Amino acid sequence: MKTRKIARQTVTIHNYNTIIVGAGAAGMNCAVHLYEFMSQKGVKDAQKRIAVVTGGLKLGASRMSGSDKQTYYKQGTSPEIPDCAEEFAKTLLAGGCCHGDLALAEGISSLREFSHLVQAGVPFPTDVMGTFIGYKTDHDPAERATSAGPKTSRFMSECLQKQVKAYGIEIFDKQEAAGLLTVGKGRKKRIAGLVTLQRSKVTDSDWGLSVFLAENVVLAAGGPGALYKTSVYPQGQIGIHGLAFQAGLAAENITESQFGLASIKFRWNVSGTYMQALPRLFSTDANGKDEREFLTGFFPTMSKMATNIFLKGYQWPFDPQRIENLQSSLIDVLVFNETQKGRRVFMDFRKNPIGNASMKKFVLKDLGPEAYDYLDKAGAFQATPIKRLAHMNPLAIDIYKENGIDLYKEPLEIAVCAQHNNGGFAVNKWWESNLPHTFVIGEMAGSHGVKRPGGSALNAGQAGGLRAAGYIANVYGGDVAKYAGQQKEIEGQLTALIEKLNSWRDSSGAAGKEVIGQVQDRMTTSGGHIRELRGTGKALQEAIALYKTIQRDGIRLSGPKSVVAAIQAEHLALASVGILKAIVELLNQGSGSRGSHLVLADDGLEIHQDVTNQATGAPLRFKPENVELRDSILRIEFDGRAKDLFRCVTVTPRPVPTERKAFEPAWQDYREGKIYHV
Ligand SMILES: Cc1cc2nc3c(=O)[nH]c(=O)nc-3n(C[C@H](O)[C@H](O)[C@H](O)COP(=O)(O)OP(=O)(O)OC[C@H]3O[C@@H](n4cnc5c(N)ncnc54)[C@H](O)[C@@H]3O)c2cc1C
Repeated sequence: MKTRKIARQTVTIHNYNTIIVGAGAAGMNCAVHLYEFMSQKGVKDAQKRIAVVTGGLKLGASRMSGSDKQTYYKQGTSPEIPDCAEEFAKTLLAGGCCHGDLALAEGISSLREFSHLVQAGVPFPTDVMGTFIGYKTDHDPAERATSAGPKTSRFMSECLQKQVKAYGIEIFDKQEAAGLLTVGKGRKKRIAGLVTLQRSKVTDSDWGLSVFLAENVVLAAGGPGALYKTSVYPQGQIGIHGLAFQAGLAAENITESQFGLASIKFRWNVSGTYMQALPRLFSTDANGKDEREFLTGFFPTMSKMATNIFLKGYQWPFDPQRIENLQSSLIDVLVFNETQKGRRVFMDFRKNPIGNASMKKFVLKDLGPEAYDYLDKAGAFQATPIKRLAHMNPLAIDIYKENGIDLYKEPLEIAVCAQHNNGGFAVNKWWESNLPHTFVIGEMAGSHGVKRPGGSALNAGQAGGLRAAGYIANVYGGDVAKYAGQQKEIEGQLTALIEKLNSWRDSSGAAGKEVIGQVQDRMTTSGGHIRELRGTGKALQEAIALYKTIQRDGIRLSGPKSVVAAIQAEHLALASVGILKAIVELLNQGSGSRGSHLVLADDGLEIHQDVTNQATGAPLRFKPENVELRDSILRIEFDGRAKDLFRCVTVTPRPVPTERKAFEPAWQDYREGKIYHV
């Protein structure tokens, strides 16, 4: 570490072989593997060559998010149900738009990484014989899902962090990403490092900047959580999508986010047993008055309504293919419908669902067979939802209690929230991006297709970290970055960044928080789970105008510390342009409703006769999925000269590799390192 004066600022410079940006489950896992692989290769003091840099060690989805029993989806471990990596990959590929090599790598790495987590101390439950107990998620033939409770991903990050610390790898906390430095042009372009700003060090005259130069950069900064107003991503999960776009990374499937029902006072998914306990769902006006059973008008019987509430448990993400004919995602539409009217929606675990005059009273034995049999097997026939929930999953109640909400005493406010981005930055089968030496893992990587099984995000994050670490250690080696010949290029970018921040001191532009508010409103309205070409096209133009205004007028600072929000605002504004551009492009291709979003169209299918357009009173209609597009992936790259600031192309998904060599030739390939070059 050394300091240098650049543009009259004192900048701390660090040099590493690899920096990992983000300290969630994916980033921590990659750090552990990289240290082990480097050490095995004989790299001396591997721990001194790696650093983890994060905006918040305690922030991010892994540390702060979960559900009733947060799912880890792995290859099956049941002693009696056979499973294999190819079958696993088939499930990942089923929704379309997914690269076959990534799906297979996630399948092949699955058990290795699961065991790695077990060894690290994640308390995945076993039975008396040592079987890791699984359960079925939707469309899951092999009981691949398992869980260590509501906080699975938090346990993962914490256990892996202990290993990182034990190995002596340095973690730089509270480092807000301010920019990615690049060197070279064209095919030789690469990311040379990360510039960060440390809020506690920001003063009137100093921005508290650090530079982390590295031969290899692993981006593990999670999903673009701060882009949405209605969101279950934890507060403070900002992401660095805008910075990555600006540095030249291409993104794929960025249009495909997952949305679903979640509590909003404390952000948490209300999936699984929260729904299977069958709480009453009701709405109120904005002041919490005028309670209404808003679902009752849309279901013919109590049995149908209650069974759908139950099914929402494991059919959790909003799915436009589960709306017609009174299926479970109609509930998401109806919740959204209420909130659009300015009403608030709650789950009340103290009361069973309440019907209308034409419905029978709620009784468990009238539930559909899927719901009834599940509760029967679980022994969950208690009289009230809270008792059923306490019986099936007391930890699901505790997590709210820990966060100031007593489900025994108060209802839980919910909304349809943005939860996860299936898309992200494009990677090859070693999770290397389109820029050599830059890897993207975890939620920031675009490894999923249009749909993914619940829990596969955590598996993908571990697989990606393993693959990236293996490639770095075996192909790029352990040398520490110098960039001696590229000082001018790097200093030029640093000077430009510092001058930009300085100029914001006198800016007449909007404040950072205002910009973020605008971006979030726009993304939730036009890039959320309900989309429509005209609205999104307009939103895209507004997003471009906002970004261009920021480039012209800067962002107004209300004091030196507000620079953090200003930096976030600028890159979130760019990220929103990229995502909206991709959505518009996809809608223009005639994609229709797929994954976890619904596309409104006047000539489409009726959602429900009583779900109407508030302006016209006509039933709302949606365009079904255009399945022909399952074989094409939308890829997008930033291009400051392009009319909409981004260029889009479509690529064909790479197939599942089928070559299987006999042991001896495969062993030779391995010994000679050829496996990294095919
Ligand atoms: C409510 C909820 C429930 C979920 N349930 C499941 C589930 O059951 N199963 C499943 O598989 N997945 C689930 N997911 C998704 C899964 O939790 C995430 O995809 C995963 O944890 C992401 O891990 P990650 O390591 O990629 O990123 P994160 O854990 O989000 O970590 C990101 C890291 O980057 C840092 N960072 C972010 N922005 C910046 C910045 N601007 N500057 C510097 N540092 C930054 C953060 O501080 C953090 O250290 C759920 C997500 C949510 C929100």
